[in-house]
Amino acid sequence: MIFRALIVAMRFSCIGTRMNTITTLDTARQTNSQLRRFAGNATATGMMHVMARNSKIEWCDDTWNIITGCTLVDEGCRHCYAAHLITSWPAIGNHPSRKGLARKNAAGESKFTGEVRFNEDWLDQPLRWKKPRKIFVCAHGDLFHETVPDEWIDHVFAVMALAPQHTFQVLTKRPERARAYLNGDGLEMGDASRGANIACIAQDDFHQHLHGSTFFTPIGNEEEPQAVLTTWPLPNICLGTSISDQASADQRIPHLLAAPAAVRFISAEPLLGEVDLKATRYGHMTAISRLDWVIVGGESGPHARPMHPEWARSLRDQCAAAGVPFLFKQWGEWLPLNQTALGADDAYYHPAPEEDPELSSRCKYDSLCIAPDGTSYSTGTAHQYHRIAEGAFAGAGHMQCFKIGKSRAGRLLDGIEHNGFPQIGGAA
Ligand code: SF4
Repeated sequence: MIFRALIVAMRFSCIGTRMNTITTLDTARQTNSQLRRFAGNATATGMMHVMARNSKIEWCDDTWNIITGCTLVDEGCRHCYAAHLITSWPAIGNHPSRKGLARKNAAGESKFTGEVRFNEDWLDQPLRWKKPRKIFVCAHGDLFHETVPDEWIDHVFAVMALAPQHTFQVLTKRPERARAYLNGDGLEMGDASRGANIACIAQDDFHQHLHGSTFFTPIGNEEEPQAVLTTWPLPNICLGTSISDQASADQRIPHLLAAPAAVRFISAEPLLGEVDLKATRYGHMTAISRLDWVIVGGESGPHARPMHPEWARSLRDQCAAAGVPFLFKQWGEWLPLNQTALGADDAYYHPAPEEDPELSSRCKYDSLCIAPDGTSYSTGTAHQYHRIAEGAFAGAGHMQCFKIGKSRAGRLLDGIEHNGFPQIGGAA
């Protein structure tokens, strides 16, 4: 979509920026000082380019942890994996980008402190990656956290606009802020749109990358080169929101669908209850009819909660009926009995003792039983004779699960690997 009005707004906006900051075109120094200026509860760091590459996350190639740090939003955050990594892996937790951002509480749970950090030395990283990648933005934080200044987000979007070869996956638990930001709410007079602001930063701080950039059109002259952002929303950005249950779906997805975005997706991980995307409404439309991608996953980590297989099946079937790409990321720590390979459940039990073959086998793993409403109870700990609680398998839909670990539990749903991806402007 081409916004001619943007050109006018862009000229006005950039001129205004120049008048306010006379050294604006002196790029990196200006960027850094600007970023520090906006730090409150938020801080900016400087460091070497040592970002982790080639992520193990199933739906991206790399992470770009340009902003780190967060705070808990809801039950889905209870065992936040990012906070867990920071408190459990010294190589991550002691790095300047993460140090002090999370700590363990008295119960041994890892929690973010609420500080957010702008890792500005990583700002141009995607511009230096020439081959197309699917890049998860802020895997250890939330780009739209309430204490992240708009100016930081502007810089992130400017870089994404200058890297059309990549697909950026922006996942947030704060889609109401994403919606407001992308719609340009709160911009001052003279800034006609968010896109105009972003174009201004791209021109002022990364002008050497503007040449040939597909989302910008050059204007101006040699003495005063300028460019306008002619594509908005950016086609190489997927905007997503995390949900865990029906309540979080009903609260967040309408904001996601109201935000200007080329591709919209949900990540239902950790999935903690059944979600009916036909019941989640957006005006007179159903959520499932407006989404471009659905990711589903169970929880991982030491305190992980189980995912009932019917919840995952339901979302798979809703996506199939609506023609929405579906990616099943993982079972997480717990594998349901009905998802074990045929006969493989025997592998979870020690053989019955020879001297008393009638005696039931000891289970090698912790096990529990989960009901469709999410209630669960332990049926035994590893290497014990597991109790089958009264009625454990009598209730409709009750399911035994084994805590065999994320990698062993795998990512087959009813024996099939689901790797759906949406059609996007960048790398597919
Ligand atoms: S929003 Fe995401 S990063 Fe932030 S605490 Fe929750 S799970 Fe962790």
